[in-house]
Amino acid sequence: DDSGAETDGWLAERARTSPEATALIEAEDGTAWTYAELDAAVEETAGWLASFGAWTGDHIGVLMETRVAFVRLVHAAMRLGVVLVPLNARLARPELARQAETADLNLLVCERETEADATAVADVPVVSVDAPEDESVVGLRGHDADFAPASWSRADPMAMLFTSGTTGDPKAVELTMGNFRASATASAFRLGVTPDDSWLLCLSMYHMGGLSVVLRSALYGTTVVLQEGFDAGAAADAIAEYGVTGVSLVPTMLRRMLSARESLANSLRFVLLGGAPAPDELISRCEARGVPVHPTYGMTETTSQIATARPREAFAHRGTVGRPLLGTDLTVVGGDGDPLPAGETGELVVSGPTVMRGYYGDSEATAEAFGEYGLHTGDVGYRDEAGRVWVLNRRADRIITGGENVHPGEVVEVLRDHDAVRDAAVAGLDDEEWGERVAALVVAEEGENISDEDDEGLSVEDVVEHCEDRLAGYKRPRTVAFADELPRTASGTVEREAVREQLRDVRDADAGN
Ligand code: ATP
Ligand code: MG
Repeated sequence: DDSGAETDGWLAERARTSPEATALIEAEDGTAWTYAELDAAVEETAGWLASFGAWTGDHIGVLMETRVAFVRLVHAAMRLGVVLVPLNARLARPELARQAETADLNLLVCERETEADATAVADVPVVSVDAPEDESVVGLRGHDADFAPASWSRADPMAMLFTSGTTGDPKAVELTMGNFRASATASAFRLGVTPDDSWLLCLSMYHMGGLSVVLRSALYGTTVVLQEGFDAGAAADAIAEYGVTGVSLVPTMLRRMLSARESLANSLRFVLLGGAPAPDELISRCEARGVPVHPTYGMTETTSQIATARPREAFAHRGTVGRPLLGTDLTVVGGDGDPLPAGETGELVVSGPTVMRGYYGDSEATAEAFGEYGLHTGDVGYRDEAGRVWVLNRRADRIITGGENVHPGEVVEVLRDHDAVRDAAVAGLDDEEWGERVAALVVAEEGENISDEDDEGLSVEDVVEHCEDRLAGYKRPRTVAFADELPRTASGTVEREAVREQLRDVRDADAGN
């Protein structure tokens, strides 16, 4: 349904219905904003933006880390009817310049730390929420102009976010107000929502996980507890101090929090864990310590969550991301594009009201991404008889050895089954005879020796033997190496190229023997 019209955004609506409720708390010093107060601040920010000519439909870039000023910009954008384009503040300048150009920006808002990057990459006016250093940059504060609150329909584009660029150049995902609304509603059906809920916001707001917390909370009328810059111990402490009930995290962050603190405060109703596969070992720690973990599969193109498991499901069915959210249809399709039955592995294809309208300015990529059953995710997985979803790996990671397809995730699962193996990554290496060969990088369980001989500790032979009765011959790793940790990106995904690099070194050393 694309008709539902609304005026001036979700925050304004909340300020009318529950002005005294707490909208925002800064974790650092406890500064709190009621909905009425945040609404007044947002009105001011919208006036500043309007004075720079920001107009309905314009693309307003934002280059900053999570902070209150960013929250104000998100709501001000909705009030003005402009399209918010958060850019990843950690990117290098050439990457930023490409994204700024792709997004057709009209204005770029920065902060002190990003001012130099912003002026270097943008050929549009740059304004700063802080006092500018460069004279070509204008301070946003103090400028003011009248504006008419926007009138929204669900089909109107609301934000444009870039994918992480794991499989190539980041793509500009155009999302509508209807996409965000559907995502917030479906998420609340899975997680529940009460007026007393508060979310800890410690993810970057230029990724879907962070931005959606801000938008959802305003729609629900709940509280955002904002932490600037992630610190594991401080995040765990903020949950206890403010009685936080929900938090979105990537696996690396949760692992660090559980290392920094014995457990998490029991005010917590849900930990939404997504962005990358959650290692079994992390799920086990959550079970042991009573952490209400909700493993989640999502992507930028689907306005965040596709499927989310509840804790009991996650503990009983290791590795699952649960069932798709209400309204989201997930089909597993085979190589011929036809749906596969339960238990069979194929590409995950998604449809429903949270799915993007397309990649901005790239009708070719958009056409390629959509098929008969919806959006082709590029992820490989399966569903069980009960409809639970497992994500194994990305299609691009598929190994083809001697003409046979091998899904790295399947091999990883078998390796992790070994008592002495904590984690593993599997990749294909060039092979003269087979085209590619399966290779595995293995992290031993803490306290396990790694031995070259097969007398004591975990050896290459142990690993090979373990795979022998569990995997078809062509799926078994031909090269095995050990590492202390798997190389991971900031968001927790395994860096496939770095894994390959380490495995290549080992293969070459073996060949030299
Ligand atoms: P690009 O599309 O530019 O290559 P990206 O896909 O990494 O980048 P995002 O939209 O940030 O960009 O990430 C979504 C992807 O993250 C999913 O398609 C999937 O591959 C991976 N992912 C997310 N959650 C999970 C999960 N629980 N288990 C496995 N993979 C996951
Ligand atoms: Mg992707």
